[in-house]
Parts: sequence; structure tokens; C-alpha cells
Amino acid sequence: MTKYLKKCAECSKYVLENPESKCRYCGGKLVNPRPPKYSPIDKYQKYRLDFFKTEFKKKIN
Ligand SMILES: [Zn+2]
Repeated sequence: MTKYLKKCAECSKYVLENPESKCRYCGGKLVNPRPPKYSPIDKYQKYRLDFFKTEFKKKIN
């Protein structure tokens, strides 16, 4: 269900995906609410993983 929801880049409202990919409130461009490439959570997890890996190696050596 949530995969049909998109977020308006202009007014930040959640709008059902439509063929025009336009916001029905302001006509703005609809974007994916959570694009994996730019997810700050994913980025944070990567840094945390790197941190734990480094700590783990320190303990071994
Ligand atoms: Zn909008």
C-alpha cells in the first residue's frame, strides 16, 4: 500500500501516485518518500558498521 504513496517535493504532502507524477494540491513534482540512495539512516548505519568493525579489529589485535 505504501509503495503507491509519493511525497510532494514542493509542499511535502503525501499523495497517491498518479500517471502525471504531480501533486494534486500544488502541482509540484512527486518524489519517492524514502529514496535509498539519500537515506540519512542508511548512511548512519554504514558509519556505525564501520565503527564497530574497527573496534572489533582493535580487540582482536
Ligand atoms: Zn504539493
